[in-house]
Amino acid sequence: MAIRNLRYDSDEILRKRSKEIEEIDNKIRELALDMIDTMYKNDGVGLAAPQVGILKRIIVYDIGEGPVVVINPVITKKSGMQTCEEGCLSSPNVFGTVDRPRELILEGFDIDGNKIKIKAKDLEAVVICHETDHLDGKLFLDIARDIYELSQEEIDEIKKENEEKEKSKSKKNKKKSKK
Ligand SMILES: [Zn+2]
Repeated sequence: MAIRNLRYDSDEILRKRSKEIEEIDNKIRELALDMIDTMYKNDGVGLAAPQVGILKRIIVYDIGEGPVVVINPVITKKSGMQTCEEGCLSSPNVFGTVDRPRELILEGFDIDGNKIKIKAKDLEAVVICHETDHLDGKLFLDIARDIYELSQEEIDEIKKENEEKEKSKSKKNKKKSKK
């Protein structure tokens, strides 16, 4: 496993459409594991392959329940609406407000090639929309409003506050999630 380099902002690769994966081989499995490592290393909750420079349809995420890998993900159903604040590992320290479906169904394959169907809601639905958009060359900033940027000091400050809050067992933390 290895940490891969992230692609940022105006990198053209982030604007291209990723290709379907035809065969889930060891190379794809290695990519998936590297993406999980890279996501954790950068404190992300999700990552799509183009963000590490690979134009293949694969996403990983972890909303606090362990890592999930989805190959050739397709959202087959969306319902409801939620408004959330999003960030992106490819646009560090930039945040904005985005409308996303409240619930969705995602179909695809796991790293063993098994067909999977995920019923997602709330944060998981947000992350899935954000990551699958990356596979089509779309960024959250295309649809976000009230966009703002924080300095690294401010981010560190929020992280520290959250750690304090977690210690005091408060469930209401203002964690900035980057995908
Ligand atoms: Zn992103």
